[in-house]
Amino acid sequence: MPKNNKELRIDPWGTTSLLEEDYVRLIKEFGIQEIDEKVRQKAIKNRYIRRKIIFGHRDLQSVFKAVETQQPWAVMSGIKPSGPFHLGTSTTALEIIEFQKMGGKAYYGIADIETWEDNGLTYEESEEFAIDNIADLLALGLDPDPKKAYIWRQSEEPIVKDACFKVSRLVTQNMLNAIYGEKSFGLYLSALVQVGDIVLPQILDGPQPTVVPVGIDQDPHIRLTRDLTRRYYNGFFLPGATYHYLLAGIDGSEKMAKRNPNSYFTFNEPLESIERKIMGALTGGRRNKEEQQQLGGEPQKCMIYKILMYHFEDDDDRLTEAFQDCVRGELMCGDHKKECIEKVLKFIREHKKKKEKLIDKAKEILKVE
Ligand code: SF4
Repeated sequence: MPKNNKELRIDPWGTTSLLEEDYVRLIKEFGIQEIDEKVRQKAIKNRYIRRKIIFGHRDLQSVFKAVETQQPWAVMSGIKPSGPFHLGTSTTALEIIEFQKMGGKAYYGIADIETWEDNGLTYEESEEFAIDNIADLLALGLDPDPKKAYIWRQSEEPIVKDACFKVSRLVTQNMLNAIYGEKSFGLYLSALVQVGDIVLPQILDGPQPTVVPVGIDQDPHIRLTRDLTRRYYNGFFLPGATYHYLLAGIDGSEKMAKRNPNSYFTFNEPLESIERKIMGALTGGRRNKEEQQQLGGEPQKCMIYKILMYHFEDDDDRLTEAFQDCVRGELMCGDHKKECIEKVLKFIREHKKKKEKLIDKAKEILKVE
C-alpha cells in the first residue's frame, strides 16, 4: 500500500493497512460520503454508526427514504469461508444484523468461489467453514426467517453466476487493472462473481435500495459493482455501502493476519488462548502506574478499548466512562484488561452454547446433507 504518494490503490485481497490520513484521502478521491450528525441521528440505533466505527457511506439516504416510506430495502454482505469467525469477520456480521433490525432484508453470500481463487480451498473443503460461519451468524442474532433473510453459496447460486457472465461483456482488462492492479484471472473473475452477489437482492426481489456494510478495503468491489449496475441494469438502484475502520492486530501489528496468530482470536479458540492474547494486547497505557496517573492513557490507540467498543461492551455509558477514566489516569491497564477478559470469555462461552444448537439449522440453510 503506497503511503503519501500519488496513487492510493486498495487491495481487497491483500493486507491493506491504513493510516488516518489515508482514510481522509479515500473519502475525497473516491467520493465516499462522511457520516455526519444528521445521518448518525437517523441510524442512532445502529451500534456501529452510533459509536463512529462506521465513518462513511454511499447512498445511505435511499435506505432512509425506503424506511420512511415503508418500501423494501436490502442489506447485503458475505464471508469467505476460509476459517472460523474472528473479531474482524464478526464486525461485518454484526453490522448486517443491526441493519436487519432496522427493517432491511438480509442477504448473505458464502463466497466459496472467491475462497477457491484466493485461498485455494475446494468447495468441499470450505463447506465445513461455511456451516460453522452460518451457525456463528445465527448465534449472533441474524433472523433466518425467509421473509427477512436469504443466504446462498456462490458456487450453487445461478443468479450470481449468470449476472457475472452478463456484466462481463462490459468489462475490459484495463478496467480491472486500473481498479485492482495486476491479479490472476481467477481473482478478476471472483470480483465479477461478487458483482453478482451484490445485485442479487434486486434481481431476486426487484429493484430496491441496497446497503453493503464493508471494511474500506472492499471499496474496489463496490465501485466496480456500481459502475456495472449503472451500465447494465436499467431501473436498478446503485448499490450503496457503509464503511468501517479496519481493526489493527490486537498485538499492535498492522492488521489481523492468519500468519500472525497473536494478532487476533477466533470464536472457536480455547478460552485460555484468548485470555493470553488479550493479556498481550497493545494498550495506549503509559510505562508505569505513576505515569498513567500523571499523564493519563491514550484509549484511542488502545486495542483493549477497541475490542470492547467493536463487540464486547453492550453498554455505551460504560464505554464512555472507561474512556474518560483512562484519559484522567484513573483507570489502570491491568484492571481494564481483566474486565475485558471477563466480558470476552463470558460472551464466547454463551456464544458456543448457542452455536452448537444451530449447526443443524446452518446445514439446512446451506442444503448440506
Ligand atoms: S486504561 Fe484501558 S483504555 Fe486506557 S490504555 Fe489502558 S487498557 Fe487502554
